[in-house]
Amino acid sequence: MDITRRRLLIAGGTAVGLSIAATAGRDSASRLWWRVPGNEKPRKEGDVDHTSAEWVAASTANWRRADRPADYRVDRIVIHVVQGSYPTALKVFQDPAHGAAAHYVVRKDGHVAQMIRELDVAFHAGNQEWNERSVGIEHEGFVDRPADFTPQMYRASARLAADICHRYDFPADREHIVPHAKVPGTDHTDPGPHWDWGRYLGMVEEELRRARRRRTAG
Ligand SMILES: [Zn+2]
Repeated sequence: MDITRRRLLIAGGTAVGLSIAATAGRDSASRLWWRVPGNEKPRKEGDVDHTSAEWVAASTANWRRADRPADYRVDRIVIHVVQGSYPTALKVFQDPAHGAAAHYVVRKDGHVAQMIRELDVAFHAGNQEWNERSVGIEHEGFVDRPADFTPQMYRASARLAADICHRYDFPADREHIVPHAKVPGTDHTDPGPHWDWGRYLGMVEEELRRARRRRTAG
């Protein structure tokens, strides 16, 4: 933001209104109130962004409060593998000393836990800009054990990823759904060579078509 614009914003209601109109894009007018400075979207303990997820709160030390997508545009999903079990992931993400956590953890049987709201910036990618623009999905298992990536896990994760692509309106391709290993500056290698990208992205596409049809129907 340049200085002139900043002054205008401070100066008063009209300028704020104009700025809102200018940045609103495709949002409908009814959703605009939370873009006014000082207003935040409503939050309720236990609320989830992905309907079928179970809320399990991460330690507040492992994420930063934000107001996405008003303050940061969300246009990436980062795919992780825990290098451990689902309970281990929940435990370390609840530990304030860990310093990192993802928004979601997917279990081998397809159960999904949401640990951080998508409004907020989770520390999962090892890169601040990528943390600010992405949603992180962890998967139970180990990178060198392909059998850990079960059909139920792929399906649940694809449904979740499609829901995120749909809500923030970005494509389900390899530019936008990214392995942790490809995030600039990271030294992590997950999800590793056994993650089946062709199969996974095909499933995300399929779920995305389904989500769009539901929207058209409803
Ligand atoms: Zn990772």
